Amino acid sequence: MKILVSGAGTAGLCAGIDLARAGHEVEVIERTNRLRANGSPIDVRGAAIETARGMGILDAVLENRITMTERTRFVDRSGTAVAPLVGQEINETPDDIEIPREDLMGILRQALPEQVDLRFEESIAMLADDGDRVAVTFASGREADYDIVVGADGAHSAVRRLVFGPEEEFAEHLGVYVAIGDAPGQATPGERVTEILNLPGRFAGVARYRDKALGIFEFRSGPIDYDHHDLDAQKRILAEAFAGIEDWKVPELVRTAQDDPDLYFDVLAQIVMPTWHRGRVVLIGDAAHCATPMAGRGVSLALLGAWTLTEELGRHGEDLEAAFTAYEQRQRPHAAAAQEFARGGADLMVPATWEAIEARNTRLRAAQPH
Ligand SMILES: Cc1cc2nc3c(=O)[nH]c(=O)nc-3n(C[C@H](O)[C@H](O)[C@H](O)COP(=O)(O)OP(=O)(O)OC[C@H]3O[C@@H](n4cnc5c(N)ncnc54)[C@H](O)[C@@H]3O)c2cc1C
Repeated sequence: MKILVSGAGTAGLCAGIDLARAGHEVEVIERTNRLRANGSPIDVRGAAIETARGMGILDAVLENRITMTERTRFVDRSGTAVAPLVGQEINETPDDIEIPREDLMGILRQALPEQVDLRFEESIAMLADDGDRVAVTFASGREADYDIVVGADGAHSAVRRLVFGPEEEFAEHLGVYVAIGDAPGQATPGERVTEILNLPGRFAGVARYRDKALGIFEFRSGPIDYDHHDLDAQKRILAEAFAGIEDWKVPELVRTAQDDPDLYFDVLAQIVMPTWHRGRVVLIGDAAHCATPMAGRGVSLALLGAWTLTEELGRHGEDLEAAFTAYEQRQRPHAAAAQEFARGGADLMVPATWEAIEARNTRLRAAQPH
């Protein structure tokens, strides 16, 4: 079949790899002018480890694994450690494979078969599904027909908006925003320490791995009205959220994050939909079921979803309804579990009051293995 995949994040690249290897003719389009490979290290875990093996990328993933020598600790306003982040609190298990997001994106890019048509600075402007084909008009003005369109364009999916309805219908705001930016000067090569300062409703931290350091921020807020693609607006919102905070390294971390042209900023909102397919259009990854970074499972769900969709298309052939339904039935339990886990994340990582911060720290100190 001739398949268009919108979005070249982990879900889109995995779909490109799996579908092309299954013999389909695949085009992958990405709105930006390059792969967006920044962000903090992510986990390949659970069933996604077997998926990575099936895709033939497990060895490369293991080679780039970050060794589990990490120490994550909460600090007070002067930088003194006050509590550890205990692995079981974030559901870590020994078989989790942690890897820098940029490394995983590089591995997926390399694994993408040559015959996949990967196009940057391209997006869908309009699509019309007449039952036999999906006619797509692109932002560039190009027009083409496909048997299937796969929406892998992330939490703010344009395919979802065009086919299923506005984002507000499906987004469940967790009441927290996140930002991740470079923190040069904070790296400690060879030693992997992540430090986090909590103030009520605020989290500012520095995550270090290899010779890199990232500033990570979370803050509680009701919905903020801004354009998701407006980097200046994102920087301004970040600065406003931490304005007037002079503690620890916060001013410097905010400043260096604002200097990062690839600053990652987003609302933590889960996507909950009654169905992920309509006609010849199907959603995978965050577009279908974003669980937010609080879940630590976005990448694993993306690997799994693309793989399952490809398998079910292979099993059901031209019967798309049957293939998409089977894909949904297999993928839903994984997505639901990840979303459920993430819902408690704000209270762990961004307690709302000084009392809640202290109670959390006391609990973590008690849970610390001796
Ligand atoms: C820059 C970045 C940094 C991230 N950092 C983290 C992190 O530190 N921790 C974490 O847990 N998760 C992070 N995530 C989210 C994580 O990558 C996803 O949860 C997971 O990989 C599932 O990926 P996805 O491919 O479904 O969505 P995404 O990773 O969001 O990828 C979607 C892709 O689609 C592209 N796109 C968007 N709109 C369109 C459009 N209209 N047309 C064509 N293409 C479009 C985007 O540019 C992007 O490349 C990050 C995502 C991004 C984009």
